[in-house]
Amino acid sequence: MNITQYYSEGDRTSRIYRGRCILQKGYTIVDADEPFYRYVGTNSGRPFPVLVHPEEAKEVENALANLNQEQRLIFRLLGQDGNYRYVYGVFQYNGRVDQGFPLVEVQLMDIMRIHHKFDEYARNIAKYRKFMTLSTQLYFEYLYKTDEIFLYEYIDDRSIVRFHDTLANLQQVVSESKRYSFRQKAELEGFQEALVNMSETMELEIDGEIFGLDCGYIHVRGAILYLSGVRELMVASLSVTGEVKKEDKYYMSSQAFDTATSVYNKRAIKEIAMDLIANSSNKKILLGVMDIDDFKNINDTFGHMVGDEVIAKVAENIKITLGTRGYVGRFGGDEFMVVLDKIQDDTDFSMIFKTVRKNVAYECRDLLHGMEVTLSIGVATFPDHASGYEGLFRIADKCLYIAKAKGKDRVIFYKPEVHSYYDMQQASVQIHMPMSYSQSCNEVTKLMKMGPQTAESLAADVEHFLEAFRIDRMVICEGDDCRVQFTATCDKYHPEPFPEVTAVPFMLKEEMRALYDENGILARNGLTRFQDTDSEVYNELTALGVTGFIAAQVKLEGHPELLVMFYFGGRTRKWGSNETGLINIAAWNVAERYLRLVDEKKKNNRKEDTQ
Ligand code: GH3
Ligand code: MG
Repeated sequence: MNITQYYSEGDRTSRIYRGRCILQKGYTIVDADEPFYRYVGTNSGRPFPVLVHPEEAKEVENALANLNQEQRLIFRLLGQDGNYRYVYGVFQYNGRVDQGFPLVEVQLMDIMRIHHKFDEYARNIAKYRKFMTLSTQLYFEYLYKTDEIFLYEYIDDRSIVRFHDTLANLQQVVSESKRYSFRQKAELEGFQEALVNMSETMELEIDGEIFGLDCGYIHVRGAILYLSGVRELMVASLSVTGEVKKEDKYYMSSQAFDTATSVYNKRAIKEIAMDLIANSSNKKILLGVMDIDDFKNINDTFGHMVGDEVIAKVAENIKITLGTRGYVGRFGGDEFMVVLDKIQDDTDFSMIFKTVRKNVAYECRDLLHGMEVTLSIGVATFPDHASGYEGLFRIADKCLYIAKAKGKDRVIFYKPEVHSYYDMQQASVQIHMPMSYSQSCNEVTKLMKMGPQTAESLAADVEHFLEAFRIDRMVICEGDDCRVQFTATCDKYHPEPFPEVTAVPFMLKEEMRALYDENGILARNGLTRFQDTDSEVYNELTALGVTGFIAAQVKLEGHPELLVMFYFGGRTRKWGSNETGLINIAAWNVAERYLRLVDEKKKNNRKEDTQ
């Protein structure tokens, strides 16, 4: 039969473009849609097989008898005008049972309608191929089922495949080949992750070289295609950004890692910190400098090999605990730097630190026969505390010193109100003068201009001086046993109260006397030297909360020798020679005023006695 003729024949209303009916027991029609009723008309009361052309009736009956599997066939169906039309029918159970008979659903489509649809699709495909030919885009497909990637472009209405492989294969090639940089490897990993995790759409940039394209970066915009509710395909259009390949960063190269620990090395972590800061657009970044406490002890007790293992364990634990929240690098020896760009505040950091500290202690327990490893860390925050890497690092490093001085095993977060004393923000501060030289001279002059007055006013003047010079306490001691006779304290920089001090005889014991210079001054920035050379002095000073001091011997005509000691706790600082000199002058001035007050008191007492 001539199908074109067939299509043009007959009354338009009696065509069946598509239709649907449900068959019950005896294959009679229990329900149907409007197009079906319109086509079949009064015949709809008859069993379905009766409506089939006798030449196909057997086939349809067979199909209906084998519905354990969906059946599809073409047959002629009788219309109400008495003519048969060719239809494409799909027969299947609809899942419901009526009087013990499973209901059958029949979907029908006029085959001319199918032909028509096909023409329409073919026209559309031709149209889209033309669009794709005109476009300069590349096209990308990823098949979730087979893990295949296709990358193609359209030339002369045909797709030309530029790349075809499985993602797994590509990943293996890229990760194992030296031809690909660390950056490219990381980019492919990111791409793979995006493919797996994407919900609906994705957008990213990737180096085309990964897919063998010599075009620089490509911008990928992709979407998932679900077929029958299953994630089937990711399609993406790729546009070449034309951007020249970014120069590989050192930290993206394979040399960026410390061989002993496999965390970043110093150069790499420093670069990462600088990059994060440069690209942060003022988002919070925490930089921490971490050092293992008393590591020398571990080396000395258990040997370097065990020491190495402890370092590796610490590195590994920091890395695991940080996860994607930040980066860790070994700065050298037992020192690490961490940079965190994905945490909110100090509390998050404290939690991370505590976890690392606990895990390290636990994992090293056997290795160190129960001895506990502890860590100290100083932390500074960008952009609050410094505007660049150098400043930030210096502050964090200083905070590490403070953590060590305060007794180790702790985090010190930089707090300007407490720690700004260090002048940390300033570049290349070698000597931590709290003031300029002329300001320092002014402060000493101010002190010298004050009269002797009363003990209270002397204390007030000294406190003012201590505040200016950022010293926590001054004591005047008398005699060989260095009994403390006068005390002035500034609690601005040292929030914890100092233990009371009654005498410091160790300051003038024989070994100590040898350390004072020709002007009778002894200045110490920290106590580490005493720790090694004179544990008595170290222990005494530590008990007093002292972490550094300037002591001046003052001998005034007709008076007993005095020791004026300025000290601070909880931190180290560097005394400059100018500062030491000025503080010595202040010591002499304060000593003189003190002695005058003592003399006056004695005179008054004598007066009282004689009266
Ligand atoms: P503190 O609490 O003040 O940090 O005391 P510490 O004993 O840890 O002192 P410090 O950090 O200054 O000493 C680090 C020591 O680590 C010095 C060095 O002998 C040792 N060291 C440096 N690199 C390595 C290494 O790769 N392996 C081992 N086993 N020891 C190292
Ligand atoms: Mg250490």
